[in-house]
Amino acid sequence: MNAIPPFDADLLRRYDGPGPRYTSYPTAPQFSSAFGESDFREAAKLSNGDPIPRRLSLYVHVPFCFSPCFYCGCNRVITRDHSRADVYLTRLVREVAMVAPLFDRDRDVVQLHLGGGTPNFLNASQLGEMMESLSRHFHFSSSPKRDFSIELDPRCVGSSDIEALAFLGFNRASLGVQDFDPVVQAAVNRIQSVEETLAVIDACRKHGFRSVNVDLIYGLPAQTAAGFGRTLDTVIAARPDRLAVYSYAHLPQLFRPQKQIDASQLPDPEAKLGLLQLAIEKLSLAGYRYIGMDHFALPDDELSLAQEHDGLHRNFMGYTTHADCDLIGLGVSAISHIGDSYSQNPRDLPAWEAAIDNGRLPVWRGMMLWADDVLRADLIQQLMCRSEIDIAALEARHGIHFATYFEEDLQRLQSLAADGLVTIEATRIRATARGRLLLRIIAACFDRYLHQPRSEPARFSKMI
Ligand code: SF4
Repeated sequence: MNAIPPFDADLLRRYDGPGPRYTSYPTAPQFSSAFGESDFREAAKLSNGDPIPRRLSLYVHVPFCFSPCFYCGCNRVITRDHSRADVYLTRLVREVAMVAPLFDRDRDVVQLHLGGGTPNFLNASQLGEMMESLSRHFHFSSSPKRDFSIELDPRCVGSSDIEALAFLGFNRASLGVQDFDPVVQAAVNRIQSVEETLAVIDACRKHGFRSVNVDLIYGLPAQTAAGFGRTLDTVIAARPDRLAVYSYAHLPQLFRPQKQIDASQLPDPEAKLGLLQLAIEKLSLAGYRYIGMDHFALPDDELSLAQEHDGLHRNFMGYTTHADCDLIGLGVSAISHIGDSYSQNPRDLPAWEAAIDNGRLPVWRGMMLWADDVLRADLIQQLMCRSEIDIAALEARHGIHFATYFEEDLQRLQSLAADGLVTIEATRIRATARGRLLLRIIAACFDRYLHQPRSEPARFSKMI
Protein backbone atom coordinates (compact mmCIF):
# COMPACT_ATOMS: atom_id res chain seq x y z
CA MET A 1 0.00 0.00 0.00
CA ASN A 2 2.77 2.44 0.84
CA ALA A 3 4.89 2.21 -2.30
CA ILE A 4 5.93 5.65 -3.51
CA PRO A 5 3.09 7.03 -5.69
CA PRO A 6 3.68 7.65 -9.37
CA PHE A 7 4.57 11.20 -10.29
CA ASP A 8 1.80 12.91 -12.26
CA ALA A 9 3.04 16.34 -13.31
CA ASP A 10 -0.25 17.41 -14.84
CA LEU A 11 -2.24 16.61 -11.71
CA LEU A 12 0.30 18.22 -9.38
CA ARG A 13 0.39 21.33 -11.55
CA ARG A 14 -3.38 21.62 -11.44
CA TYR A 15 -3.68 21.19 -7.69
CA ASP A 16 -0.58 23.12 -6.70
CA GLY A 17 -1.42 25.87 -4.25
CA PRO A 18 -1.32 26.82 -0.61
CA GLY A 19 -3.53 25.01 1.88
CA PRO A 20 -3.58 23.38 5.30
CA ARG A 21 -1.25 20.45 5.96
CA TYR A 22 -3.53 19.00 8.65
CA THR A 23 -1.13 18.30 11.47
CA SER A 24 -4.34 19.04 13.34
CA TYR A 25 -8.00 19.48 12.54
CA PRO A 26 -9.25 22.12 13.05
CA THR A 27 -6.03 23.86 12.06
CA ALA A 28 -4.27 26.41 14.29
CA PRO A 29 -5.78 29.53 12.60
CA GLN A 30 -9.12 28.45 14.10
CA PHE A 31 -7.80 28.73 17.66
CA SER A 32 -9.33 31.57 19.65
CA SER A 33 -8.12 33.75 22.51
CA ALA A 34 -11.44 32.99 24.23
CA PHE A 35 -9.82 29.71 25.26
CA GLY A 36 -7.70 30.38 28.34
CA GLU A 37 -5.95 29.00 31.35
CA SER A 38 -9.10 27.70 33.10
CA ASP A 39 -10.11 25.83 29.92
CA PHE A 40 -6.71 24.17 29.81
CA ARG A 41 -7.04 23.11 33.47
CA GLU A 42 -10.51 21.74 32.80
CA ALA A 43 -9.32 19.80 29.73
CA ALA A 44 -6.49 18.27 31.78
CA LYS A 45 -8.90 17.32 34.57
CA LEU A 46 -11.33 15.73 32.14
CA SER A 47 -8.52 13.78 30.48
CA ASN A 48 -7.54 12.28 33.84
CA GLY A 49 -11.14 11.17 34.30
CA ASP A 50 -11.24 9.03 31.15
CA PRO A 51 -11.90 5.35 31.96
CA ILE A 52 -8.44 4.61 30.56
CA PRO A 53 -6.54 7.92 30.57
CA ARG A 54 -4.37 8.38 27.53
CA ARG A 55 -0.61 8.18 27.79
CA LEU A 56 1.33 11.40 27.38
CA SER A 57 3.41 12.91 24.64
CA LEU A 58 5.53 15.97 25.43
CA TYR A 59 6.71 18.62 22.98
CA VAL A 60 9.30 21.13 24.14
CA HIS A 61 10.09 24.16 21.98
CA VAL A 62 13.58 25.66 22.10
CA PRO A 63 13.41 28.87 20.06
CA PHE A 64 17.07 29.86 19.71
CA CYS A 65 19.22 29.55 16.58
CA PHE A 66 22.79 30.70 15.96
CA SER A 67 22.13 32.16 12.52
CA PRO A 68 19.10 32.80 10.30
CA CYS A 69 18.32 30.48 7.40
CA PHE A 70 16.54 32.70 4.90
CA TYR A 71 13.84 30.15 3.96
CA CYS A 72 12.79 29.64 7.58
CA GLY A 73 9.18 29.96 8.70
CA CYS A 74 9.74 28.62 12.22
CA ASN A 75 9.24 30.43 15.49
CA ARG A 76 12.83 31.24 16.42
CA VAL A 77 15.12 33.83 17.98
CA ILE A 78 18.54 34.40 16.42
CA THR A 79 21.29 34.88 18.97
CA ARG A 80 24.82 33.83 19.80
CA ASP A 81 24.34 34.69 23.46
CA HIS A 82 24.34 31.36 25.25
CA SER A 83 23.20 32.87 28.53
CA ARG A 84 19.75 33.24 26.97
CA ALA A 85 19.41 29.46 27.10
CA ASP A 86 19.86 29.51 30.90
CA VAL A 87 17.22 32.21 31.30
CA TYR A 88 14.83 30.31 29.05
CA LEU A 89 15.47 27.06 30.85
CA THR A 90 14.70 28.59 34.23
CA ARG A 91 11.24 29.55 33.02
CA LEU A 92 10.72 26.28 31.18
CA VAL A 93 11.36 24.38 34.40
CA ARG A 94 8.76 26.61 36.11
CA GLU A 95 6.26 25.88 33.35
CA VAL A 96 6.87 22.13 33.75
CA ALA A 97 6.28 22.46 37.50
CA MET A 98 2.96 24.26 36.86
CA VAL A 99 1.66 22.00 34.09
CA ALA A 100 2.71 18.51 35.21
CA PRO A 101 0.61 18.36 38.43
CA LEU A 102 -2.52 18.84 36.30
CA PHE A 103 -2.00 15.33 34.93
CA ASP A 104 -2.23 12.15 36.97
CA ARG A 105 1.19 10.91 37.85
CA ASP A 106 0.53 7.37 36.60
CA ARG A 107 0.12 8.56 33.02
CA ASP A 108 3.27 7.41 31.25
CA VAL A 109 5.20 9.70 28.93
CA VAL A 110 5.81 7.52 25.87
CA GLN A 111 6.90 10.26 23.51
CA LEU A 112 9.05 13.34 23.91
CA HIS A 113 10.11 15.65 21.12
CA LEU A 114 12.41 18.65 21.28
CA GLY A 115 11.84 21.04 18.40
CA GLY A 116 12.74 24.57 17.53
CA GLY A 117 14.56 26.68 16.64
CA THR A 118 17.61 24.62 17.42
CA PRO A 119 17.18 22.35 20.45
CA ASN A 120 20.92 21.67 20.50
CA PHE A 121 21.42 25.38 21.17
CA LEU A 122 21.14 24.01 24.73
CA ASN A 123 24.40 22.33 25.74
CA ALA A 124 24.55 18.87 27.31
CA SER A 125 24.33 20.17 30.84
CA GLN A 126 21.34 22.41 30.05
CA LEU A 127 19.59 19.53 28.30
CA GLY A 128 20.37 17.37 31.32
CA GLU A 129 18.75 19.95 33.59
CA MET A 130 15.67 20.03 31.37
CA MET A 131 15.38 16.23 31.30
CA GLU A 132 15.83 16.04 35.05
CA SER A 133 12.96 18.47 35.52
CA LEU A 134 10.69 16.63 33.08
CA SER A 135 11.41 13.20 34.57
CA ARG A 136 10.88 14.51 38.11
CA HIS A 137 7.47 15.97 37.32
CA PHE A 138 6.19 13.42 34.79
CA HIS A 139 6.47 9.65 34.77
CA PHE A 140 8.70 8.57 31.88
CA SER A 141 7.79 5.19 30.41
CA SER A 142 10.57 2.62 30.72
CA SER A 143 9.35 0.79 27.61
CA PRO A 144 11.99 0.28 24.90
CA LYS A 145 9.29 1.49 22.50
CA ARG A 146 9.19 4.99 23.92
CA ASP A 147 10.28 7.65 21.43
CA PHE A 148 12.48 10.47 22.66
CA SER A 149 13.46 12.56 19.68
CA ILE A 150 15.33 15.77 19.00
CA GLU A 151 15.83 18.05 16.00
CA LEU A 152 19.53 18.60 15.42
CA ASP A 153 21.41 21.25 13.50
CA PRO A 154 24.46 19.30 12.27
CA ARG A 155 26.46 22.53 12.10
CA CYS A 156 26.65 22.78 15.85
CA VAL A 157 26.63 19.30 17.30
CA GLY A 158 29.52 16.89 17.82
CA SER A 159 29.91 13.21 18.57
CA SER A 160 30.25 13.85 22.31
CA ASP A 161 26.95 15.79 22.24
CA ILE A 162 25.23 12.82 20.60
CA GLU A 163 26.70 10.53 23.26
CA ALA A 164 25.31 12.85 25.95
CA LEU A 165 21.88 12.86 24.26
CA ALA A 166 21.84 9.06 24.16
CA PHE A 167 22.78 9.02 27.85
CA LEU A 168 19.81 11.33 28.54
CA GLY A 169 17.48 8.86 26.83
CA PHE A 170 17.12 10.27 23.32
CA ASN A 171 16.75 7.56 20.70
CA ARG A 172 15.61 9.40 17.57
CA ALA A 173 17.09 12.37 15.76
CA SER A 174 15.98 14.58 12.92
CA LEU A 175 18.61 16.50 10.96
CA GLY A 176 18.03 19.58 8.84
CA VAL A 177 19.94 19.37 5.54
CA GLN A 178 17.77 20.99 2.79
CA ASP A 179 20.42 20.91 0.02
CA PHE A 180 24.17 20.29 -0.02
CA ASP A 181 24.71 22.40 -3.15
CA PRO A 182 27.06 25.22 -2.03
CA VAL A 183 25.35 27.73 -4.34
CA VAL A 184 21.97 26.99 -2.76
CA GLN A 185 23.48 27.06 0.71
CA ALA A 186 24.91 30.53 0.04
CA ALA A 187 21.55 31.74 -1.30
CA VAL A 188 19.72 30.61 1.85
CA ASN A 189 22.49 31.46 4.34
CA ARG A 190 22.96 27.93 5.60
CA ILE A 191 26.47 26.65 5.00
CA GLN A 192 26.62 23.02 6.05
CA SER A 193 29.12 20.45 4.84
CA VAL A 194 28.41 16.89 3.80
CA GLU A 195 31.13 15.70 6.18
CA GLU A 196 29.73 17.28 9.34
CA THR A 197 26.25 16.02 8.47
CA LEU A 198 27.34 12.43 7.82
CA ALA A 199 29.40 12.51 11.01
CA VAL A 200 26.25 13.30 13.00
CA ILE A 201 24.34 10.45 11.33
CA ASP A 202 27.23 8.08 12.13
CA ALA A 203 27.38 9.27 15.73
CA CYS A 204 23.62 8.74 16.17
CA ARG A 205 23.99 5.17 14.95
CA LYS A 206 27.08 4.53 17.04
CA HIS A 207 25.25 5.68 20.15
CA GLY A 208 22.20 3.50 19.56
CA PHE A 209 19.63 5.94 18.17
CA ARG A 210 16.73 3.88 16.77
CA SER A 211 16.22 6.15 13.77
CA VAL A 212 17.59 9.15 11.97
CA ASN A 213 15.44 11.46 9.84
CA VAL A 214 16.78 13.92 7.29
CA ASP A 215 14.84 16.97 6.09
CA LEU A 216 15.28 18.21 2.52
CA ILE A 217 13.58 21.13 0.78
CA TYR A 218 12.88 21.54 -2.93
CA GLY A 219 12.10 24.85 -4.60
CA LEU A 220 14.92 26.81 -2.93
CA PRO A 221 16.74 29.65 -4.74
CA ALA A 222 19.43 28.59 -7.21
CA GLN A 223 18.40 24.96 -6.85
CA THR A 224 19.01 22.82 -9.94
CA ALA A 225 18.17 19.25 -10.85
CA ALA A 226 21.88 18.43 -11.03
CA GLY A 227 22.69 19.87 -7.61
CA PHE A 228 19.59 18.51 -5.87
CA GLY A 229 20.19 15.15 -7.53
CA ARG A 230 23.68 15.04 -5.98
CA THR A 231 22.19 15.93 -2.59
CA LEU A 232 19.65 13.14 -2.91
CA ASP A 233 22.36 10.65 -3.90
CA THR A 234 24.52 11.66 -0.93
CA VAL A 235 21.64 11.46 1.52
CA ILE A 236 20.33 8.16 0.15
CA ALA A 237 23.83 6.65 0.39
CA ALA A 238 23.79 7.48 4.11
CA ARG A 239 20.52 5.51 4.35
CA PRO A 240 18.57 7.57 6.89
CA ASP A 241 15.59 5.62 8.21
CA ARG A 242 13.25 8.50 7.41
CA LEU A 243 13.24 11.42 5.01
CA ALA A 244 11.02 14.45 4.73
CA VAL A 245 11.06 16.31 1.41
CA TYR A 246 9.26 19.61 1.85
CA SER A 247 8.16 22.12 -0.74
CA TYR A 248 9.53 25.62 -0.18
CA ALA A 249 6.73 28.18 -0.08
CA HIS A 250 7.99 31.70 -0.73
CA LEU A 251 5.81 33.93 1.49
CA PRO A 252 8.02 36.87 2.48
CA GLN A 253 4.99 38.87 3.62
CA LEU A 254 4.38 36.20 6.26
CA PHE A 255 7.95 35.15 7.07
CA ARG A 256 10.33 38.10 7.27
CA PRO A 257 13.60 36.12 6.82
CA GLN A 258 12.40 35.14 3.36
CA LYS A 259 12.67 38.80 2.28
CA GLN A 260 16.40 38.15 2.03
CA ILE A 261 15.86 35.58 -0.68
CA ASP A 262 16.35 36.82 -4.22
CA ALA A 263 13.02 35.77 -5.77
CA SER A 264 14.53 35.88 -9.26
CA GLN A 265 16.69 32.89 -8.26
CA LEU A 266 13.70 30.70 -7.36
CA PRO A 267 13.02 27.81 -9.73
CA ASP A 268 9.90 28.34 -11.84
CA PRO A 269 6.91 26.04 -11.16
CA GLU A 270 7.97 23.57 -13.86
CA ALA A 271 11.53 23.34 -12.57
CA LYS A 272 10.23 22.95 -9.04
CA LEU A 273 7.97 20.08 -10.09
CA GLY A 274 11.01 18.54 -11.76
CA LEU A 275 12.85 18.60 -8.42
CA LEU A 276 9.98 16.80 -6.73
CA GLN A 277 9.89 14.26 -9.53
CA LEU A 278 13.62 13.68 -9.09
CA ALA A 279 13.20 13.10 -5.36
CA ILE A 280 10.31 10.70 -5.86
CA GLU A 281 12.13 8.70 -8.51
CA LYS A 282 15.38 8.45 -6.58
CA LEU A 283 13.70 7.54 -3.28
CA SER A 284 11.53 5.00 -5.04
CA LEU A 285 14.54 3.37 -6.68
CA ALA A 286 16.36 3.33 -3.33
CA GLY A 287 13.52 1.33 -1.77
CA TYR A 288 11.90 4.00 0.40
CA ARG A 289 8.19 3.85 1.15
CA TYR A 290 5.80 6.79 1.04
CA ILE A 291 4.23 7.44 4.43
CA GLY A 292 2.20 10.48 3.37
CA MET A 293 2.45 14.28 3.27
CA ASP A 294 6.15 14.62 2.23
CA HIS A 295 7.36 11.79 4.48
CA PHE A 296 9.26 8.70 3.37
CA ALA A 297 10.70 5.78 5.34
CA LEU A 298 12.65 2.57 4.82
CA PRO A 299 10.46 -0.55 4.71
CA ASP A 300 11.69 -1.80 8.10
CA ASP A 301 11.26 1.55 9.83
CA GLU A 302 8.58 1.66 12.51
CA LEU A 303 6.55 4.22 10.53
CA SER A 304 6.34 1.87 7.51
CA LEU A 305 5.44 -1.07 9.73
CA ALA A 306 2.87 0.99 11.63
CA GLN A 307 1.28 2.07 8.38
CA GLU A 308 0.98 -1.56 7.27
CA HIS A 309 -0.65 -2.50 10.57
CA ASP A 310 -2.93 0.51 10.88
CA GLY A 311 -0.95 1.97 13.77
CA LEU A 312 0.08 5.28 12.21
CA HIS A 313 -0.95 8.60 13.69
CA ARG A 314 -0.39 12.23 12.75
CA ASN A 315 -0.01 15.17 15.10
CA PHE A 316 1.80 18.51 15.33
CA MET A 317 5.15 16.71 15.30
CA GLY A 318 4.35 14.84 12.07
CA TYR A 319 3.79 11.09 11.77
CA THR A 320 4.13 8.90 14.86
CA THR A 321 3.39 5.37 16.00
CA HIS A 322 1.96 6.62 19.30
CA ALA A 323 -1.76 6.96 18.73
CA ASP A 324 -4.09 8.07 21.47
CA CYS A 325 -1.74 10.22 23.51
CA ASP A 326 -2.56 13.54 25.04
CA LEU A 327 0.02 16.01 23.78
CA ILE A 328 1.41 18.62 26.16
CA GLY A 329 3.32 21.49 24.55
CA LEU A 330 5.88 23.35 26.65
CA GLY A 331 7.82 26.49 25.81
CA VAL A 332 7.11 29.47 23.60
CA SER A 333 4.57 28.81 20.77
CA ALA A 334 4.10 25.14 21.75
CA ILE A 335 0.75 23.53 21.01
CA SER A 336 -1.12 21.07 23.25
CA HIS A 337 -3.85 18.61 22.33
CA ILE A 338 -5.59 17.41 25.47
CA GLY A 339 -8.73 15.33 25.03
CA ASP A 340 -11.03 17.32 22.74
CA SER A 341 -9.13 20.58 23.13
CA TYR A 342 -6.26 22.36 21.42
CA SER A 343 -4.28 25.16 23.00
CA GLN A 344 -1.19 27.15 22.17
CA ASN A 345 1.37 29.08 24.16
CA PRO A 346 2.21 32.67 23.09
CA ARG A 347 4.28 32.85 19.94
CA ASP A 348 6.35 35.78 21.14
CA LEU A 349 8.93 35.22 23.83
CA PRO A 350 8.13 38.23 26.06
CA ALA A 351 4.45 37.21 26.36
CA TRP A 352 5.39 33.63 27.27
CA GLU A 353 7.97 34.91 29.78
CA ALA A 354 5.47 37.32 31.36
CA ALA A 355 2.91 34.56 31.92
CA ILE A 356 5.47 32.31 33.62
CA ASP A 357 6.83 35.19 35.71
CA ASN A 358 3.30 35.92 36.93
CA GLY A 359 2.73 32.28 37.86
CA ARG A 360 0.15 31.77 35.10
CA LEU A 361 -0.12 28.92 32.65
CA PRO A 362 0.99 30.48 29.36
CA VAL A 363 -2.15 29.71 27.37
CA TRP A 364 -2.54 32.20 24.51
CA ARG A 365 -5.34 30.67 22.45
CA GLY A 366 -7.07 27.39 21.74
CA MET A 367 -10.42 25.75 21.22
CA MET A 368 -12.73 23.06 22.49
CA LEU A 369 -13.75 20.74 19.71
CA TRP A 370 -17.37 20.29 18.78
CA ALA A 371 -18.62 16.80 17.97
CA ASP A 372 -18.43 17.80 14.31
CA ASP A 373 -14.73 18.72 14.73
CA VAL A 374 -13.96 15.40 16.40
CA LEU A 375 -15.66 13.48 13.60
CA ARG A 376 -13.85 15.39 10.86
CA ALA A 377 -10.53 15.11 12.71
CA ASP A 378 -11.03 11.34 12.82
CA LEU A 379 -11.82 11.29 9.09
CA ILE A 380 -8.80 13.43 8.14
CA GLN A 381 -6.55 11.35 10.41
CA GLN A 382 -7.63 8.21 8.51
CA LEU A 383 -6.94 9.89 5.22
CA MET A 384 -3.50 11.17 6.20
CA CYS A 385 -2.36 7.87 7.74
CA ARG A 386 -4.11 5.22 5.65
CA SER A 387 -4.95 7.11 2.46
CA GLU A 388 -8.55 5.99 2.83
CA ILE A 389 -11.72 6.64 4.80
CA ASP A 390 -13.46 3.66 6.38
CA ILE A 391 -17.09 4.77 6.19
CA ALA A 392 -18.56 2.03 8.40
CA ALA A 393 -16.00 2.68 11.14
CA LEU A 394 -16.81 6.41 11.16
CA GLU A 395 -20.55 5.72 11.24
CA ALA A 396 -20.14 3.33 14.16
CA ARG A 397 -17.81 5.60 16.14
CA HIS A 398 -19.74 8.82 15.63
CA GLY A 399 -23.34 7.66 15.18
CA ILE A 400 -23.88 9.27 11.78
CA HIS A 401 -25.16 8.26 8.38
CA PHE A 402 -22.13 9.12 6.29
CA ALA A 403 -23.81 9.96 2.99
CA THR A 404 -26.34 12.24 4.70
CA TYR A 405 -23.90 13.94 7.03
CA PHE A 406 -21.26 14.59 4.38
CA GLU A 407 -23.60 15.30 1.48
CA GLU A 408 -21.96 18.63 0.57
CA ASP A 409 -18.46 17.32 1.17
CA LEU A 410 -19.10 14.38 -1.12
CA GLN A 411 -20.25 16.77 -3.82
CA ARG A 412 -16.93 18.61 -3.51
CA LEU A 413 -15.14 15.30 -3.82
CA GLN A 414 -16.76 14.51 -7.18
CA SER A 415 -14.36 16.63 -9.24
CA LEU A 416 -11.40 14.96 -7.51
CA ALA A 417 -12.91 11.57 -8.32
CA ALA A 418 -13.33 12.67 -11.94
CA ASP A 419 -9.66 13.66 -11.99
CA GLY A 420 -8.67 10.24 -10.66
CA LEU A 421 -7.51 11.34 -7.19
CA VAL A 422 -10.05 9.27 -5.26
CA THR A 423 -12.43 6.38 -5.70
CA ILE A 424 -15.74 6.58 -3.88
CA GLU A 425 -17.31 3.25 -2.92
CA ALA A 426 -20.20 2.41 -0.61
CA THR A 427 -17.94 1.46 2.29
CA ARG A 428 -14.70 3.28 1.55
CA ILE A 429 -13.23 6.40 -0.01
CA ARG A 430 -9.70 5.70 -1.19
CA ALA A 431 -6.97 7.96 -2.46
CA THR A 432 -5.70 6.48 -5.70
CA ALA A 433 -1.96 5.97 -6.24
CA ARG A 434 -1.93 9.36 -8.04
CA GLY A 435 -4.03 10.96 -5.32
CA ARG A 436 -1.70 9.94 -2.49
CA LEU A 437 0.60 12.87 -3.27
CA LEU A 438 -2.41 15.18 -2.88
CA LEU A 439 -3.91 13.95 0.39
CA ARG A 440 -4.29 17.49 1.71
CA ILE A 441 -6.44 18.42 -1.29
CA ILE A 442 -8.73 15.47 -0.58
CA ALA A 443 -8.82 16.31 3.14
CA ALA A 444 -9.69 19.93 2.35
CA CYS A 445 -13.04 18.75 0.89
CA PHE A 446 -14.00 17.76 4.44
CA ASP A 447 -12.66 20.88 6.17
CA ARG A 448 -15.76 22.70 7.39
CA TYR A 449 -13.81 25.86 8.19
CA LEU A 450 -12.67 26.26 4.58
CA HIS A 451 -16.24 26.12 3.37
CA GLN A 452 -18.29 27.71 6.14
CA PRO A 453 -17.59 30.67 8.40
CA ARG A 454 -16.68 29.98 12.03
CA SER A 455 -19.98 29.17 13.69
CA GLU A 456 -21.49 26.29 15.55
CA PRO A 457 -21.95 23.50 13.00
CA ALA A 458 -25.49 23.41 11.72
CA ARG A 459 -25.36 19.63 11.87
CA PHE A 460 -23.93 19.42 15.35
CA SER A 461 -26.52 16.90 16.55
CA LYS A 462 -25.66 13.38 15.59
CA MET A 463 -27.74 11.80 12.86
CA ILE A 464 -28.35 8.07 12.60
S1 SF4 B 1 15.77 26.57 9.57
FE1 SF4 B 1 16.13 25.74 11.60
S2 SF4 B 1 18.23 26.40 12.09
FE2 SF4 B 1 17.58 27.66 10.37
S3 SF4 B 1 16.74 29.53 11.32
FE3 SF4 B 1 15.01 28.12 11.01
S4 SF4 B 1 14.80 26.99 12.92
FE4 SF4 B 1 16.84 27.95 12.91
